[in-house]
Amino acid sequence: MPDPDLLAAVDAFAAHPGVLVATDFDGALAPLVLDPADSRPVEGGMETLAALSDLPGTTVALVSGRDLAALRELSGATDPLVLVGSHGAEDSRRPDGLVLSDEQRALLATLEADLRAVVEAHPGSRIEDKPAGRVLHTRGIDPQVGAAALEAAAALGERHTSLVVTPGKEVVELAVAHVGKGTALVALAEELGVDAVFYAGDDVTDEQGFAALAEDADAARAARRLTVRVGEGETAAQFRVPDEPALVEVLSALLTARRSSTRAG
Ligand SMILES: [Mg+2]
Repeated sequence: MPDPDLLAAVDAFAAHPGVLVATDFDGALAPLVLDPADSRPVEGGMETLAALSDLPGTTVALVSGRDLAALRELSGATDPLVLVGSHGAEDSRRPDGLVLSDEQRALLATLEADLRAVVEAHPGSRIEDKPAGRVLHTRGIDPQVGAAALEAAAALGERHTSLVVTPGKEVVELAVAHVGKGTALVALAEELGVDAVFYAGDDVTDEQGFAALAEDADAARAARRLTVRVGEGETAAQFRVPDEPALVEVLSALLTARRSSTRAG
C-alpha cells in the first residue's frame, strides 16, 4: 500500500472542485522496455484513468515525450482523456497538431542526416522519429558504445544551436520545437481553470513538470499540487512510489476518494 502521508495527500487533493490528473506514460504507467514500440501500460492503469476522466470536474491527461500517434496507440486512450505529446508540442484536442516553420522543417532534415551518421558509427543505437525532432536510443547496447553515441548526438546541439537537446536514461532527444512538460502542464491547468494538479513521472523531463507546478504563478494552485516521482533518482516531487504498479495503486486510491467527494459535493 502507498504510504499514509501520500494517501492523506490524495484525499485532500480529491476534495478540490476542479482537478487535473496528469501522468507521464513510459516509466510511470508503462514499464521501460528494450523496444519503445513494445511499451504497454501496466494492468489497471488506463482503466483507472478512464474512470477518473468520467467524474465531474476531473480532467485526465497523459503527458509524454512521445508523439501523439504513438501515445494514442500504445496507451489505447480515448476521449475525454487528453493526450499531450512531444513534450507539449502536440495536444489531442488540436487535431491540426504541430506546425513547423520552413526553418524548423529544414533543420529536421539536417538532424535526420546527422543522426544517421551517428547510428552508423555506433552499432545498435536507434533513431525514433518524432514530429518535432528525433530521439537516439541506446538501451540494451554496449554501455561504452551507448555513451559515445549519446555524446555524439548531444554534440549536434552545439553544431545546430537552435536544436533543443534533452538527455534521459540511455536516450537523447533533439527537437526543433520544444515546449517542455512543465510549461505544458501549467498551461493546461490554466486553460482548464482547475484548482489543483496531480502529476507523476519518472525521468528528467518530469522533473521540469514537478518544478513548474511548484512555481505555478497561481500560488493557490501551486500549494494544492500533488507530485509523485516513480522510481529512483533525485526529485523535486513531494512523494515517491517505487514502480508503475505502485503508481496505479495511488491512482486507484485517488479514484475512490474522488468518487466519494464528487458524490458528496
Ligand atoms: Mg517517463
